[in-house]
Amino acid sequence: MKLLITQVALPIATTLLSFSMEIYLDYNASAPLLPAARAAVVAGLDLLNASSVHGAGRVARQGITNARNILANYLGIKPAQIIFTSGATESIATALRGTVRKNFIIGATEHEAVRANAEGAKIIPVGKNGMIDLSALEKLLSETENAVVALQYVNNETGTVQPVADAIALAHKHDALILIDAVQALGKLDLTPIKNADMIVFSAHKIGGPKGAGALILREGLSIQPLILGGGQEERRRAGTENVAAIMGFGAAIQNISAQLEKQTELAEWRDAMEKEIATALPQVKIFNSAPRAANTSMIALPGVTAATQLMNLDLAGVAVSSGSACSSGKVGPSHTLINMGEDKNIASCAIRISGGWNSNEKDFQEFARIYIDMAKRLA
Ligand code: PLP
Repeated sequence: MKLLITQVALPIATTLLSFSMEIYLDYNASAPLLPAARAAVVAGLDLLNASSVHGAGRVARQGITNARNILANYLGIKPAQIIFTSGATESIATALRGTVRKNFIIGATEHEAVRANAEGAKIIPVGKNGMIDLSALEKLLSETENAVVALQYVNNETGTVQPVADAIALAHKHDALILIDAVQALGKLDLTPIKNADMIVFSAHKIGGPKGAGALILREGLSIQPLILGGGQEERRRAGTENVAAIMGFGAAIQNISAQLEKQTELAEWRDAMEKEIATALPQVKIFNSAPRAANTSMIALPGVTAATQLMNLDLAGVAVSSGSACSSGKVGPSHTLINMGEDKNIASCAIRISGGWNSNEKDFQEFARIYIDMAKRLA
């Protein structure tokens, strides 16, 4: 999929950015905006304060209510169980800081948003394939009073699918609360296995919605303290004037979820064919595919060539992918997920992530394989 973004005028610096990517395979970082989400955002930008009692306020409120109903409908929950936030990081921080329980138990490969908000957490180890050790979780639960477990459904770097239904059952057997980070599962997997979770988090921009919208879902009857204090928005659970446009864009993206789910079979075929071609041409590469994975994600290490070097070379060739570990400063370090899977640091430093989504096509994966193989031969 060719993504061409030109002449984005930054209003303050009046700088013009222009970049062209031939192949965008970095959906786990952010999916391109869906046309329907763009239209919803644009419509929402003209709306006013959803808390105002006048007609203009009521129209803005309706925009949020519609998005809430779409999400509630999709999840089969009551609209009041949804707290709209600015994204998954805020949802996670609200969930973990807002519960009265403070004895955290988290997976070894959780996203930084979970790790940073779960001080003193006990860690559930993962095996070589990246899946959590359920007996270790059970042991931790039996040793911990008032526990809150946080576990991702799908790992953002490797696509590994965690045994979330079993983890939820174990947590409840031990009277613990459990938060499921479903950011990378939405639009990729059926959400039935997490229906009994106490708290679930989602992010709009991973499914083609805008950045700046996310959700925290609370089990019926569960209440939490707000992270941000102020006005009474979101039933006093998240203060601050709502980002109406982003929430409406999120709603529009949710309406596209069934199309995204249907695409997973094709994505798996294209991804697997790409991996096969790379493995045949480059026997030295290591592909992290030994666990059940989301269909769109591939993590591949090219020993001896750092992820930073690979990313730069691929970028020059018009290919956008990432290392699993890119932090906000843009620095590239060894993959945190691979290190916690017990992988050698030298391998973890040479791994990159390829992730497709709603607008990817077979050619993207075929071209990626060709360019990657050329690069690897050149740099070897
Ligand atoms: N959890 C996972 C698994 C993620 O992949 C991400 C985003 O990279 C987040 C949480 C944070 O999401 P957001 O960008 O909406 O804050």
